[in-house]
Amino acid sequence: MTARILVVDDVPANVKLLETKLAAEYFDVLTASDGPSALSVAEDQLPDIILLDIMMPGMDGFEVCQRLKDSTKTRHIPVVMVTALSEVPDRVRGLEAGADDFLSKPVNDIALFARVRSLLRLKMMTDELRLRQETSGDLGVFESDYDDDDDPKDARVLIVENNEMMADRLARYLGESGCVTDHAATTAEGQILGRDGDYDLVIANLHVGGEDGLRFCSQYRSNEQTRHVPILLLLDDLDLPQLAKGLDIGVTDYLIKPVDRGELLARVRTQIRRHRYHHRLRLNLQQSVNMAFTDPLTGVYNRRYMSAHLDRKIMEIATAEKPVSVILFDIDHFKAINDTYGHGPGDQVLKQLAARVSNNLRSFDLVARYGGEEFVVIMPDTNAEIALRVADRLRAHVAEQAFQVEGLEAPLGVTVSMGVTTALDHSETADTILERADRALYQAKSEGRNRAISAELGGPKETEGPLASTG
Ligand code: GH3
Ligand code: MG
Ligand code: MG
Repeated sequence: MTARILVVDDVPANVKLLETKLAAEYFDVLTASDGPSALSVAEDQLPDIILLDIMMPGMDGFEVCQRLKDSTKTRHIPVVMVTALSEVPDRVRGLEAGADDFLSKPVNDIALFARVRSLLRLKMMTDELRLRQETSGDLGVFESDYDDDDDPKDARVLIVENNEMMADRLARYLGESGCVTDHAATTAEGQILGRDGDYDLVIANLHVGGEDGLRFCSQYRSNEQTRHVPILLLLDDLDLPQLAKGLDIGVTDYLIKPVDRGELLARVRTQIRRHRYHHRLRLNLQQSVNMAFTDPLTGVYNRRYMSAHLDRKIMEIATAEKPVSVILFDIDHFKAINDTYGHGPGDQVLKQLAARVSNNLRSFDLVARYGGEEFVVIMPDTNAEIALRVADRLRAHVAEQAFQVEGLEAPLGVTVSMGVTTALDHSETADTILERADRALYQAKSEGRNRAISAELGGPKETEGPLASTG
């Protein structure tokens, strides 16, 4: 894992020491010897992690940290404060300024590299999510939400701790700041609660009774449903090798007993805030993926997705020797509906039409909006005769049941014209099939509308009964 690390310290010997250690592990090292230059290097170079001295003349580490976290450009860079101060109030102050962790001077190698690696993994995940977010062009909206979630109110926290007194105390501290807690006294109970509980954070002891808390953490991490939930590890004392192991398997933060209320809450707040931010980025990403494939008005697939899907179905003709049929349909005199009632009612007709057609097809048939008031249905494993009967059934269903449109007193009669065609040959493309369907649709329009015409068979035969809906 290679990365760029900014080391900030006013004492040149301290900078040199850290620089040497980090460079030996193949990290790129940037340096700064005071607050203002640290800020400008951070802005210009966007390092992956910042190791920040607290006591510096002029602007101290707390202020540097606060400024880094105030800027949208540098907010996501993890900051580790490197300090000779080890008093709890200093730690709380640092956490409140937005620091992710502390290392005490002289810096221990195990602690340094375990922390650097775990923060880098986290940073990589944030960067990846932010990048995708940026690609979907929405970054601004969610950026502003980051701070508003400062408050862990209503956060759900799972405490995995066999010591009842300790568990009660944690629950009380967290409860006072608005969190909702559950308690598991064994790791097995923790797994069960964890799977169903939708937690924002898990606090687990390194030893749960005689059980290995780290094993619990690693299982929790590898489970698909719980892998993104942050874990705060509780330690009786600073057991560096165990802590390093924990950070390597994905523990996100830790706390050493005796638990200080202020430090607990500050760490919990950081974890929850970050978790919620990631969660929002992920949700938003999912949404933008959905948006890329669906039509926002009607919720059915869009043209882009439909063509790709049709191309896949054509390839299957070769392997499965099953025909694929396509219906292209268009609302009759839709312009008149818009002109008479307005665009709003017109939109409602489009929505209802898409829903009605979708509900009258098999689940593996695909409905897509092709453009304005044109839709496409793709029906795998369907020959020309069946396709025409399905089309005519849909056409009749639309024509026979008028549309109830909000704001209009009388229901609206709507009809559609349909062009139907079937592909038997895998040398076809989505374009050639849709062109053929379009010609059949044009024929249906010119023959008087409210009808389905098959490119292969012409109009439906009078003798054929309606085909039952197969849902
Ligand atoms: P035809 O029977 O020949 O298809 O006549 P038509 O009036 O349906 O066809 P035309 O292509 O002349 O008009 C289509 C209309 O569909 C014009 C356009 O304003 C309207 N339209 C396209 N997209 C939307 C939409 O998203 N919402 C609404 N309300 N109307 C739309
Ligand atoms: Mg039309
Ligand atoms: Mg049209």
